[in-house]
Amino acid sequence: MTDDRLTVLVVEDNPVQARLIQGLLERSAAPSFQVELTDTLAQGIRRMEEGGVDAVLLDLMLPDSEELETFSRFHAHADETPVVILSGLDDMALAARAVEGGAQDYLVKDRIEGPALVRSLRYAIDRARARSAEWHSPMLRLAQQQFLKAAQLMGLDDNIRQRLLFPERTLLVSFPFRRDDRAEVETVFGYRVQHVLTMGPTKGGIRYHPGVNLGEVSALAMWMTWKCGLMHLPFGGAKGGVRVDPTALSRSELQRLTRRYTSEIFPIIGPERDIPAPDMGTNEQVMAWLMDTYSQQHGHAVPTVVTGKPVVLGGSLGRKEATGRGLVYLVEEAARTVGLDLEGATAVVQGFGNVGSHAARFLAEDGVKVVAVSDVSGGIHNDRGLDLEAVEAHVRENRVLQGFPEADPITNRELLELPCDVLAPCALQSQITAENASRIRCRILAEGANGPTTLEADDILTEEGVFVLPDILANAGGVTVSYFEWVQGTQNYMWTLEQINERLRQAVAAAFRRVHARSEREEVDMRTAALMEGAARVSEAKLSRGLFP
Ligand code: GLU
Repeated sequence: MTDDRLTVLVVEDNPVQARLIQGLLERSAAPSFQVELTDTLAQGIRRMEEGGVDAVLLDLMLPDSEELETFSRFHAHADETPVVILSGLDDMALAARAVEGGAQDYLVKDRIEGPALVRSLRYAIDRARARSAEWHSPMLRLAQQQFLKAAQLMGLDDNIRQRLLFPERTLLVSFPFRRDDRAEVETVFGYRVQHVLTMGPTKGGIRYHPGVNLGEVSALAMWMTWKCGLMHLPFGGAKGGVRVDPTALSRSELQRLTRRYTSEIFPIIGPERDIPAPDMGTNEQVMAWLMDTYSQQHGHAVPTVVTGKPVVLGGSLGRKEATGRGLVYLVEEAARTVGLDLEGATAVVQGFGNVGSHAARFLAEDGVKVVAVSDVSGGIHNDRGLDLEAVEAHVRENRVLQGFPEADPITNRELLELPCDVLAPCALQSQITAENASRIRCRILAEGANGPTTLEADDILTEEGVFVLPDILANAGGVTVSYFEWVQGTQNYMWTLEQINERLRQAVAAAFRRVHARSEREEVDMRTAALMEGAARVSEAKLSRGLFP
């Protein structure tokens, strides 16, 4: 999994000060920092040239340079990296001038304390990212490359190709929410992106994660478009997010954040406009708060504004398990296609959140031996198969997999390379890359996560003969039951769990057949075929509506 730690370079020649700062930063858990110390300007500059520094704390009085000269020489090498000046009480005028010249902030050394230091660095990094990197996202690059490849192979109308590379509508908001101690107010960035508005309301989850930016949300919205298209759902793709670490927030903070975010995106969401749902870092409860906030503005309950809400508020039976369940229905289809008997087959699942834990459970119900699973704390492995009930009980008690007694610990990287029949990455993006793809030893790769495989890795997997169930197909069970939830809400008529699961099975099996047939017909891999299915439908819809004005 990706390391969310921020690297901070401290350029300070007073060892006591430097160590004090290091101690304060290393005590912070969210965000967590890796601190590197240097005591001369020359060394600091050399470290910057190596790259990978997220922020710098710079003392202006160093053995090899003094005053503003220090800042201007350093700044020339800092590029977009935010620099916070460490100032003595009597040098504050100097520090203020450095800020005028491009430093992000200054801190007075004698008054430095933990929370203020962490906050200053976090905001400096946030501002730098917001300024320079809103569209900069490996996920957006991947989504666009995948789409361009499919568009070229299918000879997609050039006007439509240009139209689909970026979202049709994006909303970027920055907004405050109050921390529990009441004194502190946090300002965070939030997004809602609608990729295609042609075929009905837009649809897609909301993600709370520290890495969220406009590019990432746009990539995810684009994938939602293809997902809805290939599943024949009457939606365009959307996605939303807030750049925040939800694990660092209390329940009441999460509620205030969600309510304020909802009111910020209020003008562009609604049952006929754009319908959010859960994604990474959000859940049923967050959807309930969203629905309540939206309903307060209308003066009556509007359950159809979100899906993935609690059943008691009009949520659908089976929605919570739907992504994992859909994934396993697709694994069943793929196993039939490659001639694999699932009874006694082996599986490895990366990620033990809502998608991964349900996928593991349903695989086991099919007679598959789940030999390894993982979460942020690392993985656990047992060749004889894991007792998933015991694993779930362990997670309920300890919150993480780490320490599960009846298995060996394994890293997330090692886990991906275990020999198995079914590998299901259900965690983060960019897990299977050019670097490890040739060591992946599964027959079926079922992508529960969005964007777990890079384009270069795709070519290697195809060469190795791995049968890939691409993300936009493999995890489409979630949005499909979201569609069922929206239909049930609109009609005020609820279905049984059996009806839901049966319709889900039919929907994903039909989508599998369409994608597989196209992949054989056009002689392309399953991912390209799935993208073509989605893009062809959007293109047809756009051409039938025509151009306004
Ligand atoms: N966030 C999920 C996804 O990526 C579900 C979206 C939805 O249900 O609208 O597909």
